[in-house]
Formats: sequence, C-alpha cells, structure tokens
Amino acid sequence: MIELRNVSKVYSNGTKGLDDIDLQIKEGEFVVIVGLSGAGKSTLLRSINRLHEISEGEITVNGNSISEAKGNELYRIRRDIGMIFQNFNLVRRSSVMRNVLSGRVGYHSTLKMILGLFSKQDKELAMNALNRVNIAEKAYIRADQLSGGQQQRVSIARALAQEAKVILADEPVASLDPITTKQVMDDLLRINQELNITMVVNLHSVDLARKYASRIIGLNKGKIVFDGKANEATEEV
Ligand code: ADP
Ligand code: ADP
Repeated sequence: MIELRNVSKVYSNGTKGLDDIDLQIKEGEFVVIVGLSGAGKSTLLRSINRLHEISEGEITVNGNSISEAKGNELYRIRRDIGMIFQNFNLVRRSSVMRNVLSGRVGYHSTLKMILGLFSKQDKELAMNALNRVNIAEKAYIRADQLSGGQQQRVSIARALAQEAKVILADEPVASLDPITTKQVMDDLLRINQELNITMVVNLHSVDLARKYASRIIGLNKGKIVFDGKANEATEEV
C-alpha cells in the first residue's frame, strides 16, 4: 500500500528530518508512529503525501511512485490519501458540509467549490461520511462554531467523502481533552475496521499507541528504532 525505499529528507537549513528510511505498510493496517518531538514523525507523513519533496529515495502508494509523479498523476495518487492535522485545517467560515465536500471535489475543482456546484450524489456521500462520525446534525453549521473534537470528526468525514484508501493523521488528538481524544481515536479505529482504510497516525503517547495500533513504529532522529506489534512496545520507544 505504502512503500518507502531509502528515503531521506534534509531541510534547506541542513536539518535531517528523515535518515534513510525503509518501510512497508500493508492495506488495512493501523500503524501508529511514535517518537519524541522532533523525531521526524511529521516529516514522514508530509513526505508520503508529498507536501514537501524528499531529498533521496522513492515513495510509492498503491504501486504508483508519488515522489516522482508529475502533474495530473500526482493528483490521481493523492486522491487515495486523506490527511488529518492537529489543528483540523478546516475552512473556518465555511459550513461543515462545504468542508466535507472539499475532500470530494478535489484540489482541482476550486471553482466548483466556490460556486457550491455539488451534485446530489456528492451531498449524499458527504452526509454518509458525517453520519459515520456521528455529526450529521451539524452539517449546516459553520466549522468554527464546533468544538475541537467535532472539528476533528469533520476532518475525518472529509477524508471519507474523498473516498480515501489511506488516512495519514498528524497528531490528530494533540489538542484535545482525554474524553474527546478517546472518541476521535475510536472513530479512526472503527473506520479502519469497517471500511478497511489503512491508517498511519502520529502520536506522542505510547500508551495511546498501544491501545489502538496493530503495529507501532518508533522514530528517533529520523531513523526507525522500533517496528513491531503494539504489545511488544515499551516506554523506551
Ligand atoms: P524546505 O527545506 O522543505 O524548503 P524550509 O527550510 O524552506 O523547508 O522551511 C519551510 C518552513 O518551515 C519555513 O517557513 C521555515 O521557517 C519553517 N521551519 C524552519 N525550521 C523549522 C523547524 N525546525 N521546525 C518547523 N518548522 C521550521
Ligand atoms: P516530529 O513530527 O516528530 O515532532 P518533525 O518531523 O516535525 O518531528 O521534525 C523532524 C526534524 O526536522 C526536527 O529536527 C525539526 O526541527 C526539523 N524540521 C521540521 N520541519 C522543518 C523545516 N521546515 N525546516 C527545517 N527543519 C525542520
């Protein structure tokens, strides 16, 4: 599903974000990446979705080289990848429905988005996605009127409406309280199990990783220092 071969990322100031990573993630896995702040977790997810260019190596998603894709091919590969961020990345002044549909119409349909030209099927898909994270009753409320946990569930719905096959979540619960954290992690797990969507989730809590992951990858200074089943992971990773 996702494969990294000899991937390194050196930032323009010389900092090594990733140092010669080899990694394979299979369809349907729930992978949690753990590591201290600065370990390279965010750099890893941003590299997979090509939010920045890697310095060396190759990354493939569903057998397609995303790190080398050009133009439309890059958009096609990205359609399969949903992204969830710590700060939700919603359009704050837009309705929940519009935010969810922004995953559906894709990056290249800005005009469709601005004009609000959504088909009946688009809206049905968005409502289904909102139902799956139990937030359908908020569909026509402005995003910035929701709590943090609700906003994060909207961003999960956006990935679902996009019909993503893999979700990359960068510290999705870092700004949430413990109860909301559990709800959002439960949602991600349920989606993984019911829809077989592959999950790659960055967390700084090993405890939380152990509860949800089928596999834990430990990063330190841009290198993989642990890769195994959740119950084999200790506090040291
Ligand atoms: P790239 O090498 O991918 O072009 P840059 O070095 O140009 O990335 O930095 C991109 C952005 O990240 C800049 O706005 C920069 O200020 C910011 N940035 C710089 N250093 C750090 C850091 N240590 N952690 C997070 N962001 C940083
Ligand atoms: P984590 O997500 O595990 O906290 P990051 O991937 O954000 O770690 O950062 C890995 C390393 O790369 C850190 O040393 C960080 O300071 C550095 N870094 C991250 N983004 C940038 C950037 N844009 N420019 C320069 N250095 C960066």
